[in-house]
Amino acid sequence: MRISSAQILAPALLLCAAGATAHTNEHGLDPRNFDARTPACTDFFQHADGGWLATNPIPAEYSTWSLDNEIGERNTAILKRILEAAAAHPGAPGSATQKIGDFYAAAMDEGAIDKAGYAPLQTDLAAIAALKSPAGVAALIVAWQARGDDMLFDFEAQPDLRNSGTDIAYAGQGGIGLPDRDYYLRDDAKSKQLRGQYHQHIERMLGLLGDKNARAEADWVLALETRFAKASLDRVALRDPNNSYHILTLAQADAKTPKFSWTAFFHATGRDDLKSFSLAQPDFFAAADAALTQVPLPHWQAWLRWRLVDADAPYLSRPFVDADFAFKGGVLRGAKQNLPRYKRAIRSADHTVGELLGQAYVEQVFPPEAKQRALDLVNNLKTAMRARIARLTWMSEATKKSAYAKFDTLVAKIGYPDRWRDYSPLQITRASWIANVRAARAFEAQRQFAKLDKPVDRSEWDMTPQTVNAYYNPMGNEIVFPAAQLLPPYFEVTNDDALNYGGIGSVIGHEMTHAFDDEGSQFDAQGNLANWWTADDRKHFEARAQKLVDQFNAYVPVDDLHINGKLTLGENIADLGGLLVAYDAFKLTAQGKGDAKIDGLTPDQRFFHAYAQTWRTAQRPAQLRLQVQSNEHAPAKFRTNGPLADVPAFAGAFACKAGDAMVRPASQIVEIW
Ligand SMILES: [Zn+2]
Repeated sequence: MRISSAQILAPALLLCAAGATAHTNEHGLDPRNFDARTPACTDFFQHADGGWLATNPIPAEYSTWSLDNEIGERNTAILKRILEAAAAHPGAPGSATQKIGDFYAAAMDEGAIDKAGYAPLQTDLAAIAALKSPAGVAALIVAWQARGDDMLFDFEAQPDLRNSGTDIAYAGQGGIGLPDRDYYLRDDAKSKQLRGQYHQHIERMLGLLGDKNARAEADWVLALETRFAKASLDRVALRDPNNSYHILTLAQADAKTPKFSWTAFFHATGRDDLKSFSLAQPDFFAAADAALTQVPLPHWQAWLRWRLVDADAPYLSRPFVDADFAFKGGVLRGAKQNLPRYKRAIRSADHTVGELLGQAYVEQVFPPEAKQRALDLVNNLKTAMRARIARLTWMSEATKKSAYAKFDTLVAKIGYPDRWRDYSPLQITRASWIANVRAARAFEAQRQFAKLDKPVDRSEWDMTPQTVNAYYNPMGNEIVFPAAQLLPPYFEVTNDDALNYGGIGSVIGHEMTHAFDDEGSQFDAQGNLANWWTADDRKHFEARAQKLVDQFNAYVPVDDLHINGKLTLGENIADLGGLLVAYDAFKLTAQGKGDAKIDGLTPDQRFFHAYAQTWRTAQRPAQLRLQVQSNEHAPAKFRTNGPLADVPAFAGAFACKAGDAMVRPASQIVEIW
């Protein structure tokens, strides 16, 4: 992925209102965004983006403010108009406009939501209160997981890593409320302080449910989640796909977790026919199973209440929304106030009925011609990357042949899906936001269950068209660019090539390079986890990758926190490769071959400015800490300066000299792809 997903709190199995401000030129390069006082060769991020940073304070309701946020704001305005129009004229029952219109209207009905309090949770709270035994706890978890509530584990259909044409079930570690298992285990003062704040937050939320014993319950919840955290793999280990691939028959899985029945679970999902699945992290499930008998029933009940209210708080009355924001938005990310209701409603619609909304969105922003223009760019990038592979000195011809095979089957998806998702079984009404969200969760769970042991649907997308992001899917060997990532200033047909190649070109190159990063390179042309490297070539690759790990390990973005070079390796390989291939492709254009200045900048200078512009980003310290500790993407400043210092053409473009901060000594320069 290019940037961190918004759903950072939900660990994934394998896999980021102020409006445009005065100093923002939406379409090209605006010199007012530069900082001429900082030399390009000292800190190019500051040189290229310092003016923008100085004049674009982070709005109170955000913890990150970036170019992508600015584009997101423009999108939000478009989506708001679409949703308001649909709410005013919902059309025929069951139609797309009825669903998105009623969804939005229910989410905006603050009066009804506040009046309901936490009444929507009462049935579930009663079910928790009625539990009598560990077997009852297990049965309740089974039932709720089957309706789409990931109480204890993540569940999804994904291609079989060794047979990528078929979807199978993956059940992965979960059960924790903090962003990462390390949050429970670190011993430094800041981590301890954060756990204290988390404890207070749990106590407050359970208190809002009327619990009289909320402080002790918070102790129990934290202790149980710490148990889960200790049994969980860390994020670096999760980057190895083998660590999510443990195929067991249902009988074998049931033997692994004697108190928790997978047979009962798949029965509840309607898939009795299933013979096997991946119990992705068996040690986690064994530990959770042991806890069923070792941990007292009231502790499990407290944890279940917590998981329930933690998941649904955003859709409840004001006290729940405020408390939820105070911790997740405030403590964890440093935001000063919550998003206005309409923005929360739009995000919720995006996460639940996103492709219905997307259909209306692309009609407004992405004409069919745009698809062809973007495809042309992708093809130019592919040509450049193929030439780069051919020139690699560290890779043998045998491995290159397999690399070409993988490259030649790489599919590019542009803008929006050829076939839209079918939401017809999903019922949306104007009566209740939380009921709609829950219906959408159940619908999504059923969609996942229905896919198991069936051929993979290659037409599906994992991001909605209105998402400002892009991704590479190793099992489909595909790069995917939502329409919202293909907008100005990333991409505009009237831009000069320097801007388009430095902008969207580097994004396309980034996603392409993911096919060959530390993780993607373990998958072959068919999307199977299979080695296509000679042992020697792999060694050379890993030695070069290690230099990049060392580079990023040395960066300290906030307090005394270092970037985790191993965790961010895939993204850093993709950034560096993407920049190099985009530059090569640019040099094939007429502008790239020439030297005509525009607004005082040479073609190469414009290219590198366009690249740095895409990374203009300000983050609050809390958000930076969160990102460094739990995200595979390094902070923007290091994604700008890190790769640029590895590119000799950058030093050439700005006449940087040996010894300048933006010029890495030759012995430390990394070049992989
Ligand atoms: Zn990426």
